[in-house]
Amino acid sequence: MVRAAAPRRSSRDDIPVARRSRPPQRVRRSGSGLFLACCFVFGGSLAAVLFGPSLVSRFTPSVSGVEGIAERPTEDGRLLGHFPYPEADQSALVEISPGLMLQVDAAEALRSMRRAAAADGIDLRLLSGYRSHSLQKGIFFDVKSARNQTASERAKVSAPPGYSEHSTGLAVDLGDGDDPGTNLSQSFESTPAFRWLQDHAAAYHFTLSFPIGNIQGVSYEPWHWRFEGSSDALRLFEPARRLAQTR
Ligand SMILES: [Zn+2]
Repeated sequence: MVRAAAPRRSSRDDIPVARRSRPPQRVRRSGSGLFLACCFVFGGSLAAVLFGPSLVSRFTPSVSGVEGIAERPTEDGRLLGHFPYPEADQSALVEISPGLMLQVDAAEALRSMRRAAAADGIDLRLLSGYRSHSLQKGIFFDVKSARNQTASERAKVSAPPGYSEHSTGLAVDLGDGDDPGTNLSQSFESTPAFRWLQDHAAAYHFTLSFPIGNIQGVSYEPWHWRFEGSSDALRLFEPARRLAQTR
């Protein structure tokens, strides 16, 4: 279940700056070596100037905020309380139930967790998994409009596009199959499924993202859990975990 993610490294991990920053070898041996070193440094700097901005916007979608939202991200990258998240690498997603995709490690962990829950008489249902940025955009703005909410009111209950844990393919919304009336409602906390999750989810590397009174200022979401059982997942959720620990 916990696997090093080496075979599926995403392209965002491949940062050429790291290669360019490696010191050139045998610089002082000859004039031609020095010349090559200068070319190396100059070329690297030029590439950084030419490609730097596109790398920044690609890796940190938060820097310019979100179209349609007047608020700007805070120093730690958060927009209206939510941290920025990249879209999952499509090749790392698998369909876990009809129409619902998850990153493969999270899917495997969820399958094991559901089996264990079923053995205890709990019908754990997956209600939502991976969401693309464009789907999140619809969920944020369409519902905001339908409910006549401001962006900050909407952000209490839904992440702006580019800022949802769901876009990583590592977050799930879970329900109790025996009590579907509590789906995506705070009343889910009174179900046997939620109590089972409180006792067992950590064993499968699932963590409640937005507990009561969370420091991110997001509404309590007993149904929303994120998977932290891989090195990629730990890295992605490190800022959120660090912030939660400051409480
Ligand atoms: Zn959710």
